[in-house]
Amino acid sequence: MPKGIYDRAPSAWKPKPKKDYDPALVEKVRELYAAGHTMREIAELAGTTVKILQRLMPRHGITRRTAAKRDQAGERNHMWRGGEAKYQALHLRVETARGKPQRCSCCDTDDPNGKYEWANLSGHYADIHDYARLCIPCHRRLDARRRAVTGQRTMPPKGGEGDV
Ligand SMILES: [Zn+2]
Repeated sequence: MPKGIYDRAPSAWKPKPKKDYDPALVEKVRELYAAGHTMREIAELAGTTVKILQRLMPRHGITRRTAAKRDQAGERNHMWRGGEAKYQALHLRVETARGKPQRCSCCDTDDPNGKYEWANLSGHYADIHDYARLCIPCHRRLDARRRAVTGQRTMPPKGGEGDV
């Protein structure tokens, strides 16, 4: 009999409790998901990771949408043939022509510590005037609404489960 094996505190034998997620985080994730945000966006907006979401969501009964419809729409959408690189190049073109956004035209935030992006408005990605300055939360909200209406991607597919 190996020495010392019976000396452990009784607590050492208890099964480890399942990791509990912060209820505030769970609610935020539920809300963002219902609003049509993608996993990537929820992770960004809730300050977590897609990996954590993939465990948190089924545990809290947040049912995943099926990816099929949107993925097909994405593949049909010629815009995304060049993938992430093309998407970034188009946004960079806007930045070169119109400058780096420093405020949000939706909620009027101009906090110098905030992050702002050029948000495409109606799918004319090549038109540098089809973009508005938005803060990250407003940009993600806009994209989610547009996807809900058009059923089309607003970002190129990145691959992997986390893109649903
Ligand atoms: Zn805003």
